[in-house]
Amino acid sequence: MGKVSFVIDDAVASIIRAPLLTPFRIATGQHDELENIFLRLRTSDGICGYGEAAVATHITGETVAATLVNLQAAAAALRGRRIDAPEEVCREFAPAFAGNHSGLAALEMALLDISSRLQGIPFYQLFASAAAKEPLLSFNTDITIVIGSLEEARAATRQFAQRGFKAFKIKIGKDEELDLSRILAVREIAPDSELILDANMGFSAERMLVFLNRLDKHGVSPVLLEQPVPKNDWDGLAAITAALAGSGTLVCADESVGSLENARRAIDMGAVSAINIKFMKSGILEGADIARLAGSQGIRLMLGAMLESALSITASAHFAAGLGCFDFIDLDTTFFIKGELSHSPCLDDSGRFDLHSAGHGIGVEPHFA
Ligand SMILES: [Mg+2]
Repeated sequence: MGKVSFVIDDAVASIIRAPLLTPFRIATGQHDELENIFLRLRTSDGICGYGEAAVATHITGETVAATLVNLQAAAAALRGRRIDAPEEVCREFAPAFAGNHSGLAALEMALLDISSRLQGIPFYQLFASAAAKEPLLSFNTDITIVIGSLEEARAATRQFAQRGFKAFKIKIGKDEELDLSRILAVREIAPDSELILDANMGFSAERMLVFLNRLDKHGVSPVLLEQPVPKNDWDGLAAITAALAGSGTLVCADESVGSLENARRAIDMGAVSAINIKFMKSGILEGADIARLAGSQGIRLMLGAMLESALSITASAHFAAGLGCFDFIDLDTTFFIKGELSHSPCLDDSGRFDLHSAGHGIGVEPHFA
């Protein structure tokens, strides 16, 4: 990363809310609105950097209240501080955000946003310089079919297929019979699309394999199966991965892998063939560390998100572009949000990200506080 030096003149963290078009339902719970925290850091030269913490209490156990307290404490510590190496400051603050990685992600996002603005480069360039691959400046996200009725699954699939989406990530794990009909309905409505299943820990290894067998009898083979079993069921994950070796279905850890340490464990055990990285699980810099480790071990990568607004989704798209190593892009949550917070300058209605004309920094400047 290039050299920058700046003084933080003002720092503010506050809660932001947005209504949803559809409740975001998964096996372990649901969001009825977006309630996240934005952080704005301003330098003495008036340059602002923005960060977002998306708190998913039913997944990570973090709370909005505690995340706000942590970010306000970090904001207070940063006011008046001179920063010469933003990355080092991110690493320095990481211990203060132990157990609250969404807060860490917001802090890193804001500091790195300022860093890239001051260097006059797009946010993705921060990661491109450290990556072995060329930046990948356009790609498509999948779209999530949330837990719901068969009719809801049909209606959502029709709508998104019409808009041009080609990859559907179906949330399962609450009701096997209904899951089966929902999957078959998506396949029928969008026959040429890629199917991803995300069980959010809703199965045992045994039940999962029986379920996949049933799908196979219907001629359905997902390209990727995310987090079939509870996060600490490493043996279950490994058993499914072994059973699916060579089948064309990747087994991907999401809830099981929120840190470099967990990633190393999953890889060393042969427990997975893919890993879903999210800013809100590991923070941004550790997310890049996980990507480099996984890439060096032949593990495939997905970049995902919690219920994040356009700020964090756009920052994530830059991260994917810069590192250039993600096979699966799951950055679709702005399609569930109403209003201004859903607008990313580099994402169109069909789920296509294009960063060719990205300016300096992340390129999203939310109004708040
Ligand atoms: Mg997942």
